[in-house]
Amino acid sequence: MKHTVIAGAGHAGVQLADSLRAEGFTAPITLVSNETGLPYQRPPLSKDFLTADGTPQTLPLKARKFFADNDIRLIESNPIVRIDRSACAVQLADQDTLNYSDLVLATGARNRSLPVPGAQLDGVHYLRTASEASLLHSALTTARTAVVIGAGFIGLEFATAARTRGIAVTVIEHGQRPMARVLSEEMSQHFVSAHASAGIRLVFGEAITALEGDNSRVYAAIGRSGERYPSDIVVIGIGVEPNTELATAADLSTLNGIAVDPYLRTSDKHIWAIGDCAHFPCTHAGAPTRLESVQNAVDHARALARTLSGTPTEYHQVPWFWSHQGPHKLQIAGIAGKQDDSIVHGDPPNGKFSVFRFRDGALTCVESLNSPAVHIAARKILASHARLTLEDIAIENFDLRRLAN
Ligand code: FAD
Repeated sequence: MKHTVIAGAGHAGVQLADSLRAEGFTAPITLVSNETGLPYQRPPLSKDFLTADGTPQTLPLKARKFFADNDIRLIESNPIVRIDRSACAVQLADQDTLNYSDLVLATGARNRSLPVPGAQLDGVHYLRTASEASLLHSALTTARTAVVIGAGFIGLEFATAARTRGIAVTVIEHGQRPMARVLSEEMSQHFVSAHASAGIRLVFGEAITALEGDNSRVYAAIGRSGERYPSDIVVIGIGVEPNTELATAADLSTLNGIAVDPYLRTSDKHIWAIGDCAHFPCTHAGAPTRLESVQNAVDHARALARTLSGTPTEYHQVPWFWSHQGPHKLQIAGIAGKQDDSIVHGDPPNGKFSVFRFRDGALTCVESLNSPAVHIAARKILASHARLTLEDIAIENFDLRRLAN
């Protein structure tokens, strides 16, 4: 009998169940979650959730009624612990087993931990789940100083929220500029100035080697430089690692994530992987890659829903991402390499501009700040594979929106 089992009820898993029903898929669907309660949206956890008055609420991905109405069985707080590929069955933590005709791994990612002395002290936080965000929200009501380790998206969104709540924030980054893995030098520098003007202290080229505490509570972070950074709370935001353990134990092929083909199928024809955990051939990156974004999770799910409903569909969507850091609304379309060239258009002094990135003379990515129309146009242009060169864009008054219409 046909039965699709989905491991993980995050953005990818829930979208898959939804899109399968929208495609007219009538066979049973079981969505297995290792978290308690309704599946929820993660992006607000590092933004509005932290600044909310009173007790903040998570935003559910779907109301409970949705699961009943669409005949989707949601199993909560009971992770899949083992895959038996020869029997096409999974075992749950409570020992129950489920047989599948197709198994979809949508297990996401988890925070990379910082292996330094003191990392276990009270007051040291990570930010991925609703319960971690709730702990941080209440820690912010008493903290006066916070140290953030890592100037990536999550670290800087948290820093912005903490500063809004009047806390003295220091962000310590090992590299020389923020969000360097993804952003151009020009956009990084905008955020350096913006956060500095908001009163956030940014320290680059510094690594935290220990956390110090008293009565098991953190009170300082110690840098390799010898500097001590006083901190009532420490937030570690040094990236994530894909949840690949189930796949590895089942002898599926893994790289930096669960390896899949253009149809998002793993090395087993009955098992698929989508979202943050999947390492897939990415047309726009020009190489197999793993992405961490809501768009990637949702569009993977939509493509796979078509395949599982009988229309084999390769995945080729343009990657895009957003990060809101206070009034600075950043949107990125496409994928740039570190060495890609940049051209800036717009009004940087007023915080409204775009950076166009190029490789071998062709457009790879557009970073837009407070310019949503340019972002939408960039997605259209990148999807159309129109060849835009550096010379096309270098002209004064260039307007991408005109080309996209
Ligand atoms: P997840 O959302 O991680 O869901 C996977 C689920 O599977 C988890 O609940 C996990 O616990 C569960 N699971 C793991 N193993 C098992 C198992 N064996 N059995 C059952 N369940 C299992 N992206 C953006 O584009 N813009 C943003 O502004 C943005 N902000 C973010 C802010 C925060 C605080 C975080 C944490 C992420 C943010 N992201 C943002 C990234 C985005 O949320 C992720 O890319 C997205 O959640 C990925 O969805 P997913 O379903 O692949 O994984």
